[in-house]
Amino acid sequence: MEQPVLLEMRGISKEFPGVKALDGVNLTVRAGTVHALMGENGAGKSTLMKCLFGIYRKDAGQIFLEGKEIDFKNSKDALENGVAMVHQELNQALTRSVQDNLWLGRYPKLAGIMVDEAGMAKRTKEIFETLDVHVNPRTIMSTMPVSQRQMVEIAKAVSYDAKIVVFDEPTSSLTEAEVEHLFRIIDMLKKKGCGIIYISHKMEEILRISDDVTIMRDGQWVATRPAGELTMDEIIRLMVGRE
Ligand code: ADP
Ligand code: MG
Repeated sequence: MEQPVLLEMRGISKEFPGVKALDGVNLTVRAGTVHALMGENGAGKSTLMKCLFGIYRKDAGQIFLEGKEIDFKNSKDALENGVAMVHQELNQALTRSVQDNLWLGRYPKLAGIMVDEAGMAKRTKEIFETLDVHVNPRTIMSTMPVSQRQMVEIAKAVSYDAKIVVFDEPTSSLTEAEVEHLFRIIDMLKKKGCGIIYISHKMEEILRISDDVTIMRDGQWVATRPAGELTMDEIIRLMVGRE
């Protein structure tokens, strides 16, 4: 049975001065599936996701979430409306604690004014328990290895309870055990019916966890195929555009 379409991006274009970063790109993500987005460096993967997430304004095209057209003004707008993203570049407040980073911009409030420190600690603990993340919420970010900071970022994205979760090259700084942990989290999201967009260069990873694969080259959509029908050679050929 085909899962229902959750997200549809149609004909997305985006130009930067002197660069056509996206040229009429399409992407359809079904509920409860992992959709891998592949392409060489500079193909436009991150730009496409930033257009979805409201970081960039698209020049052309349409985006539909559960059939309703959306056009997020900024990342807060995206997060409040069911789209979360783990960015390629970590952007964390390093002098602050793990839990501050988790709730930055959306602190639970007491009587609508005071930051609810106890509530924050409790909810952080609950989220980490659900995700099996073993990090002390009071640890200062800068004292942790980059891989653990990445796991906090992943937990944060999941904590928004989004319908669509984007992972932009999440495993580049993770240890092997953490990659396995991330895959368990992704599996949990799939079972909840989320749509996952997963960007990576690592073929084995892609073929292992994804249901569908979209390949981009030079800002253009090249192909979308079920992962089961693709081989590594085929992916490389589509990414590079020659044998
Ligand atoms: P990918 O994530 O697939 O590696 P990007 O989406 O980061 O590719 O980049 C696509 C193209 O757009 C590249 O040529 C890149 O240099 C350009 N680009 C991305 N962001 C900007 C920006 N903010 N300003 C100018 N050019 C950009
Ligand atoms: Mg990128």
